[in-house]
Amino acid sequence: MTSQECKALVFCCSDFRLVEPIKNWLDEKHLASNYDLVSVSGGVSKLDSIKENFLVKQIEAAIAEHNISEVFLIAHNDCSAHGGRGSFDSSEAENDFYLLNLQKTKEKINSLFPEIQVKNVLVKINPLGQINFEENV
Ligand SMILES: [Zn+2]
Repeated sequence: MTSQECKALVFCCSDFRLVEPIKNWLDEKHLASNYDLVSVSGGVSKLDSIKENFLVKQIEAAIAEHNISEVFLIAHNDCSAHGGRGSFDSSEAENDFYLLNLQKTKEKINSLFPEIQVKNVLVKINPLGQINFEENV
């Protein structure tokens, strides 16, 4: 790996509550200063065609410029872009919604970039504000 290269691109929601926890989690994964970060409101769960095209361009750039080999897709519950946890009938329904969007986005990236390893992560924020990361969901 050269000084111009890094391991991963991370795509997540721009939610302020996640900025520090995601950085710390990636540090624990030994990815400190080793990833490109792309954050937009709603992340994978609010991808219209414009944002999806934007994500694809970001991945293309990260491959061309930094030779990344992994993409982390990080979704989270209680997302303001979807009205928060109160807009779902249950926490199971809410989690299923984010898991489905993670899976759909992963399949899209796999089809466009078969050489890239895509890792799905669901961040769960409980009503007390405690945050838990679930990988390979
Ligand atoms: Zn969010």
